[in-house]
Amino acid sequence: MPENPFLQLFQKQQQHQYVVGNTSVKERIRKLNSLKKAIEVTYRSKIHEALKKDLNKSITETDLTEIYPVTSEIKFIKKHLWHWVKKQSAPTPLSFFGASSYTKFEPKGVCLIISPWNFPLNLTFGPLVSAIAAGNTIILKPSEMTPHTSALMKTMVQDLFDDRVVALVEGEVETAQHLLNLPFNHIFFTGSPAVGKIVMKAAAAHLSSVTLELGGKSPAIIDESANLTTTANRLIWGKLVNCGQTCIAPDYVIIKEDLLSEFTNLCIKAIESYYSKNIEASNSYGRIVNQKHFQRLKNLIDEAVSQGAKIAYGGNSNTADNYIQPTLITSCNTEMKIMQEEIFGPVLPIITYKDASEILNQINTNLKPLALYVFSNRKSFIDNIIKNTRAGTTVINNNLIQFNNHHLPFGGSNNSGIGKSHGFYGFKEFSNERAFMKQHFKGISEFVTPPYTNLKEKIAALTVKWF
Ligand code: NAD
Repeated sequence: MPENPFLQLFQKQQQHQYVVGNTSVKERIRKLNSLKKAIEVTYRSKIHEALKKDLNKSITETDLTEIYPVTSEIKFIKKHLWHWVKKQSAPTPLSFFGASSYTKFEPKGVCLIISPWNFPLNLTFGPLVSAIAAGNTIILKPSEMTPHTSALMKTMVQDLFDDRVVALVEGEVETAQHLLNLPFNHIFFTGSPAVGKIVMKAAAAHLSSVTLELGGKSPAIIDESANLTTTANRLIWGKLVNCGQTCIAPDYVIIKEDLLSEFTNLCIKAIESYYSKNIEASNSYGRIVNQKHFQRLKNLIDEAVSQGAKIAYGGNSNTADNYIQPTLITSCNTEMKIMQEEIFGPVLPIITYKDASEILNQINTNLKPLALYVFSNRKSFIDNIIKNTRAGTTVINNNLIQFNNHHLPFGGSNNSGIGKSHGFYGFKEFSNERAFMKQHFKGISEFVTPPYTNLKEKIAALTVKWF
């Protein structure tokens, strides 16, 4: 069998892991600072160019959704890392009198980060920041679908890091599979639930721990107490950032039946106020990443329409540059693929309910979403939705903003993900919480060593009874 093409790189990092793992907080922060400077200053305009080429991202969107999440995460970690790495004392039960206990986070070791194409810089360098903070060596495998950004990140990584510490390999599925055959100590994967299962299966061969940041159908629920104008403005912004190719974008809307017409009109108003009537010419509107995804989205729309769905707005497209107009669809039902698969594009089905119980039926027929949004000013309505659904994250009266609060864990549940990222939670994911006990002087256990006499039997019985 031919040797794994990444074995040597992997072994180099494996041999170097203790050097990296024993680096001080100061040294880890130095690495993070150099990455921050490269993103914020040295390579900033090249990052803008690469994302324009890959996803037609505007400079503003690149700054806000690719650069800022990484640089703000670095700032956050710099403030808190000193505290996180400290040993934390833990209580010791009286039965272990004579000993003390504590925990300390240690690096997992050699980590693999596999990232998707939709926020290629953010979702590659974001986890990298957490892995560096925790003291690991890291191999990055970004998506082949955003080649300009992946090539640029490779240049940046080579410029900033020794490959025994951080390396980036470009490549397609085969590259990812070679990497997945290696016994990494941790695998951090961001992508689809289908590939997440492949990653978890490969990880099982080595019992590598995994973080899976996946996707799903994230609903937005609106009741009659919500401010409809504000809701439409916020939801349309959240849906159309990055042309809808956002894991936590609202996938579909469920709204009280008699609000449908007013809400749809407000959504149209919001779309045109953000992107004008000539959306295709707007500098602020992105494109679908490639022909495959463009065709997938067109098929979702066509299939829904052929089964009776109505296009309330949009529906136009241009194959030449993967443009799909923001599209609002009504009269959808659960038989349609658009209501079963994650949409991941600028298409928003708006379905209706008469009674609140229909909302729960609709949401709970799908697997647990990554995000669930409720737009309402009625506490009882919000509480009922929250208590009777499950989701990775929830925002009330807004969407998307949860991603950039580094105080909160970010991630899904089951089909939408396993494990959490960001801030302390990201640091923890790349660390092993090692438990320690130290024996200072003779403990009770030493009075009950064999041979077991009558006296020792009594001590054991007293221990069971009293400790
Ligand atoms: P994907 O799963 O197709 O690909 C992700 C990565 O996996 C890429 O680097 C790709 O090369 C690799 N890959 C693809 N097939 C593979 C295989 N068979 N074996 C091993 N590796 C393989 O996902 P995508 O299309 O790049 O991204 C879209 C998905 O990612 C959506 O489902 C979205 O919701 C999800 N996502 C989740 C988050 C999150 O934070 N939870 C963020 C962004 C995207």
